[in-house]
Parts: sequence; structure tokens; C-alpha cells
Amino acid sequence: MTPALGYAATGPKAALSPFKFERRAPRDTDIVIDIQYCGVCHSDIHQARDEWGGSMFPMVPGHEIVGTVKAVGKSVKGFKVGDLAGVGCLVDSCRTCGSCKEGLEQFCESGFVGTYNSYERDGKTVTYGGYSDHVVVDQAFVLKVPSNLNLAAVAPLLCAGITTYSPMRHWKVSKGQRVGVVGLGGLGHMGVKFAHAFGAQTVVFTTSLKKKEDAMRLGADEVVVSKDPQAMAAQRGRFDFILNTVSAPHDINAYLQLLKRDGTMVVVGIPEKAPELEASTLIMGRKRLAGSLIGGLPETQEMLDFCGKHNIVSDIELIPIQKINEAYERMIKGDVKYRFVIDTKSLRV
Ligand code: NAP
Ligand code: ZN
Ligand code: ZN
Repeated sequence: MTPALGYAATGPKAALSPFKFERRAPRDTDIVIDIQYCGVCHSDIHQARDEWGGSMFPMVPGHEIVGTVKAVGKSVKGFKVGDLAGVGCLVDSCRTCGSCKEGLEQFCESGFVGTYNSYERDGKTVTYGGYSDHVVVDQAFVLKVPSNLNLAAVAPLLCAGITTYSPMRHWKVSKGQRVGVVGLGGLGHMGVKFAHAFGAQTVVFTTSLKKKEDAMRLGADEVVVSKDPQAMAAQRGRFDFILNTVSAPHDINAYLQLLKRDGTMVVVGIPEKAPELEASTLIMGRKRLAGSLIGGLPETQEMLDFCGKHNIVSDIELIPIQKINEAYERMIKGDVKYRFVIDTKSLRV
């Protein structure tokens, strides 16, 4: 075991604070990563505050991890000391079920091992995430990071990036389509970048006009204020695909009405309270409501390579770990442009 330093939530109402713990000694197939940056996802807040139930404390959140390889086990192939490396939301799975074999480890039929707030495959060792100085992960769950991008701005790709890239690829978002992205936060702003990169006409739905200019700069063709009933009515029946990233309870029916016949809305946001669905909004126009969960390892690598090739990164605000509690409060108010990223140097001062 090796000593590790991080920030942890000790209970659902506690502020995050410094926390000492231990990581396992690397096994033959393990990679030890010195964490340089870790993005702050709204899922970190949901779990640190036990908004989804079943949270385990103390909890070290963080699943948007980038850093450099510090050591490798003797059977590791493809990574050497000094390489850049990334870790997202998954650190293990059964590797034998149908989903795992297809590279869809997020849907592992015996349950994937999350980067934090999860049990290892032994069923008793708790995982701790990236708000920490280093991490030990099996090579099968470590991603290669393009070297031409700003490393801090790559971190959010490991969750916000893949969570928006994957459904747009699955539902084949492309040129000629009109695509909506609901909520301009960490996920939403990556959704806008990908929809634009895939050639779709991209429309952002946001709760106020405050983010309009940013949305256009990020790649939106239009911005609609979702609290303006007239503006919403003007969008009815016009969308092929809508990606809903909203983190708080809201009326999903209002967005289903905006789909064309046979259009699809994919929900990726996970509000504390389940939405109420009006069946008629689906029935009228044979619309589809679907969900999507992060992405498997092969697709996450594909997304990172795509971002390297097309120079896509997240728009970030770099913070020292000491500002994490303030960052959570700001995210809840929608005051983030557009992802907080922790500079883990601040852990070592
Ligand atoms: P975030 O950065 O906090 O952004 C959420 C955005 O939702 C806000 O910026 C805001 O956009 C909008 N919003 C918030 N409250 C709202 C309300 N009451 N009504 C309408 N819009 C509201 O969060 P995030 O990190 O992008 O995460 C978004 C959600 O996705 C979270 O629930 C998270 O847990 C979930 N998530 C899911 C997956 C998955 O695999 N499915 C992966 C990662 C995260 P505007 O300011 O533009 O209105
Ligand atoms: Zn996340
Ligand atoms: Zn599996």
C-alpha cells in the first residue's frame, strides 16, 4: 500500500476537506498515474451530497483524471513512465460478459467498478477518485491522451466529453440535422462542440440570455431561452435529436414537443427527482425518449483521438483544490464556464 492525499466528503452535508488514505501497491497489469488535473462533474456533487442514495463516506470524488505515468507493472504494454494518461468513470468490469466483450464496459452485466464511490471486483475495497495526488488503475481502463492539447482542458473529456460524444455517434448526429442541446454546463458545452463538429445545425436551450454569446462562440447556430414560452413554441416539431443535460428537476415534456416526427431526445442529466412523462407528447409523432451512460473504453479512446485531430477541448476554469466547495456552490447556480478543473499541484502545498 502507498499513502495518498486527497479531498473527501465525510458525509452528505459535510464540506470536502483534506483526507489521507492508501492506494494499492501496483499489480503486474497496473499503471500508477501522478494526477495533474481532475475535472469537476455535477455527478461528483450528486454523489458527495448523496442525492442518488447509497453514497459511501468518506468519498474522494473525481472521474475526469489526467496525469503522467509514474510507474508500470511488469506486464503493462503500451504505457511507459512519463507518458500522458487518462482515467474516466470506470476502473474495472467483469471483462467477460456480452457488453464488456463489445467494449461497452459501462453496461457490464455484473456492474462496472466506478472510479469512486464503488467497490472493486473483490466486493469490499472502496474506490477513491481523482481529487487526489495519484491513482492506481489496471491498464485496460487507462486511456491514451493526445499530446497536442492543453492537458488541463483535456480532463473533462473523460466524462463530459464521452457522455455527449457517445449518444451523438450512436444516434448518428450529422450534417443536415437540427440538433438541440439543453443546458449549457460541463456536458452541454461539450455537446455543442461535438454537434457542431459533426456538421449539425446546433441550437442551445439555456435558462437565461447570460450564456448566449458564449454558446455562439462554442459552435451554436441559435440560442433559445427555455423560460420564454413564445421562443419555445417557435421551436415545436423542428428537431431530429435533442441531448438533455439538465442536472435539476425540470419539465421534459416541453422538450419532447420540439422533436420532429420520429425524433429522439436522449437524457443524460440525472436530476435527484425523476421526471414526469406525458405519454401524449411521445405518442403524437412517434417520438423517442432514450438514455445514455458515459461510454466504453474503445469509444472513449476514439473520442480522445477525434478531439486530438480536431483540436477540441473543454473550456475550463482552473481552481486549486481548496476552492472545491465554492466551485460546487457555483455549479449549482449554473455559474460555471464551462468546467471547473482542479490543479492537483495545490494538494502538495
Ligand atoms: P453542470 O455543469 O452543472 O450543468 C448543468 C446545466 O443544467 C446548467 O449549466 C444549467 O444550464 C442547466 N440547469 C441546471 N438547473 C436547471 C434547471 N432547474 N432547469 C433547467 N436547466 C437547468 O452539470 P454537468 O456536469 O454538465 O452534468 C449534468 C448532468 O448530467 C448531471 O445530472 C450529471 O450527474 C449528469 N451526468 C450524466 C452522465 C451520464 O453518463 N449519463 C455523465 C456525466 C454527468 P443553463 O445555465 O444553460 O440553463
Ligand atoms: Zn461525470
Ligand atoms: Zn461485464
